[in-house]
Amino acid sequence: MLGIDGSLCVFCGSRANSKEHVFAMSVCKRAGDINYPVTAGLSVEGKENLIRNPKPMPIQALTVRCVCSPCNNLWMSELETWFISRLGSLIDPQWPQDALAVIEQLKPERNTLAHWLIKTAVTYSHTVLECSHPVEFSSAVTHKIKDGILPENCWIDLAYSKTKTFGAGITRHFYVKNGAQPVQNFPLKNGDGFNFVVQLNHLLLRIAQAPHVGEFIYPNQHGEIPVRLYPTPSPRMPENYEYDDMMNFQSSIILKTWAGCREGQD
Ligand SMILES: [Zn+2]
Repeated sequence: MLGIDGSLCVFCGSRANSKEHVFAMSVCKRAGDINYPVTAGLSVEGKENLIRNPKPMPIQALTVRCVCSPCNNLWMSELETWFISRLGSLIDPQWPQDALAVIEQLKPERNTLAHWLIKTAVTYSHTVLECSHPVEFSSAVTHKIKDGILPENCWIDLAYSKTKTFGAGITRHFYVKNGAQPVQNFPLKNGDGFNFVVQLNHLLLRIAQAPHVGEFIYPNQHGEIPVRLYPTPSPRMPENYEYDDMMNFQSSIILKTWAGCREGQD
């Protein structure tokens, strides 16, 4: 368990007196294994992805003390109930036959999905061990989350992983393309910005934010394109949203940072 006594609830500022599972027990049970070893603290540094903690921990042991009981038992608990009711079949060990319909039905409820993902990203950020560019959410941001208000410019993607596992990662590193230079991996410097990916069995979800950067594209090397669900859902399902694994999905976003760049230009 991380956190220290006397710490405050990240969502409301009350005393953090509750042990919060980063992944709710109901989610772990639905996914099939509360003791599944997870690789927490995936980070992306330098040119290649790295897994930060080489020793996986059981998913049910991934707890933080950064939340108060009312937050944990009220709105956060309601979000977990919602998540299981809407995405439960997508985190089953077997990918469901009717996945397309399930995903389609998420679009009108994307604000709730965004709410679930951002609160999970914030609690997860408290589990990550030291690194050179940690994701730290300011209280100005986190205190609005309990009311369902997200940081600006967030987006959400969903995809399928051919490899079945549990995992998560939060980072400030993005693949960046600046003009004619080759794609490079950089941490976002000033201000906000984060990239949170979670995998539960075959389901991949990302919530990310890159303020000050207007454009982002998918490299599309093998034709994979994730399903954009938020803020504006993709009108049609991409033909191929199957990634090899979480790392592959993690690197499916490239930020274009030069002035005047537009989608589709090199
Ligand atoms: Zn609270």
